[in-house]
Amino acid sequence: MPADAPTSREVDQFRDRADRFIADLDEEYYLHFAGLKETLDVEQVYERYEELTRLATAQQMRGGPTELWRFACEGFLGNLTRAHQARLAQAETELETTVDGQTVPYRMLRVAMSNEADRDKRQRLEEARVRLLDEHLNPVYLDAAQIDQDAVRRLDQPNYYALYKDFGFRLDELADECRALLDDTEKLWEREGDKLFRSRLGLGLSEARAWDVVRLFRATDLDELYPSDRMLPALEATLTDLGVDLRSQENVHLDLDARPSKTPRAFCAPIEVPGKVMLVIQPIGGKDDWEALFHEAGHTEHYAHTRADLPTEDRRLGDMAVTEGWAMLMQHLVTEPAWLNRRLDVPRPADLAYDGAVSLLYFVRRYSAKLLYEIEFFQAEEITSMRNRYFEILSDALKIPVNPESYLDDIDGSFYVTGYLRSWAFEAQLREYLRSELGNDWFAKRDAGDLLRELWSLGQGPTADALLKDVTGAKLEMASVAERIREGIGA
Ligand SMILES: [Zn+2]
Repeated sequence: MPADAPTSREVDQFRDRADRFIADLDEEYYLHFAGLKETLDVEQVYERYEELTRLATAQQMRGGPTELWRFACEGFLGNLTRAHQARLAQAETELETTVDGQTVPYRMLRVAMSNEADRDKRQRLEEARVRLLDEHLNPVYLDAAQIDQDAVRRLDQPNYYALYKDFGFRLDELADECRALLDDTEKLWEREGDKLFRSRLGLGLSEARAWDVVRLFRATDLDELYPSDRMLPALEATLTDLGVDLRSQENVHLDLDARPSKTPRAFCAPIEVPGKVMLVIQPIGGKDDWEALFHEAGHTEHYAHTRADLPTEDRRLGDMAVTEGWAMLMQHLVTEPAWLNRRLDVPRPADLAYDGAVSLLYFVRRYSAKLLYEIEFFQAEEITSMRNRYFEILSDALKIPVNPESYLDDIDGSFYVTGYLRSWAFEAQLREYLRSELGNDWFAKRDAGDLLRELWSLGQGPTADALLKDVTGAKLEMASVAERIREGIGA
């Protein structure tokens, strides 16, 4: 590995090309998932930027800005398994199975399960899904994981975990906080998880299985409280209160058209930051759909308000807990009692806050366990030995037996899991600050909007920790998530 840091010209060149590479990737994702283009041609984009993904480039960028070096390393690794990613995507689109005489595409199995009231049928759907996963997808995932494992050594690192620590990810410290959170909230989850499963599905937590979890969070009993025709008006009104006029934002493109192959889930594609941010929606209604829309709107406004003169690494790369934090702040409004009173006029907002808190408890326990698992996974010599560890760690955290077959497909690359975990803490602490400064209806105050727009303009230059410290003086802590959950539960 060359000892010299890259010259500023080399850094500038890499930065400019990286900026175009990301823009092209985001455009490709947008076109495919918005239903405007049948195929997802990520491989062709990689080919156009071939020089960015060479080993020599990753080695050269070491010593440059950390975010650019990380991007070069991720490009090098991603490029080696891009054929695997394409094969997985293709298999996922083509695979299907027949359950009770009905043919269901692989990607629709979870949706079908969540909409299925008959528990035995849900079990058959899940068993069919897991069979397809293990037989057709896991061999590809495994091969890709082995290629990554070898390739990391060519970056002069013993493993992927060590590589990310080198990028400045504080994995061990976060893992300690997650272990403490799991201990601290274990009894609470056993009690409240049991209560929620009983009230919604008539099952105790100890009887619940994977095929019940998707049904639990589908929460069909809440559909009428979150109608599809009020989603977008509620979002627009919320943004107006904060001083943002969604319809007049020239750099925000609302894609509301119905197309047969458009993904049903809202998403944000920041093709140019801040110049061209796509917010794609196909409203179906229900709590889940409202949460997804508000979440993606949080990303959208963050990117759309980012200052154009920041370098690429501060606009497009950086700490993903920042953009996820803004997304969570918007998403959690959907179960915030003061917001519900103002925007939806539901009969018992505290029930929805309770529901939101128990869901958050499930997800923060799941992601805490995932981090502990991924830290082990990325240090393991023998990858297949982790199948059982996945089952042990996740099942212990959730008190529900998970599918060991998911030990490969349940991994988010780039330790993205840390982005979600820290975004929950960011949201909990920032919300607490906003409430103490501006009151429980902070989201309806122009001062809150002024502060958010100022913070959004910084992009992802400062980390979530730095932003929070700067605004509130506090340290970002996972314990704040447990506190927020307790408040919602009323415990
Ligand atoms: Zn997000």
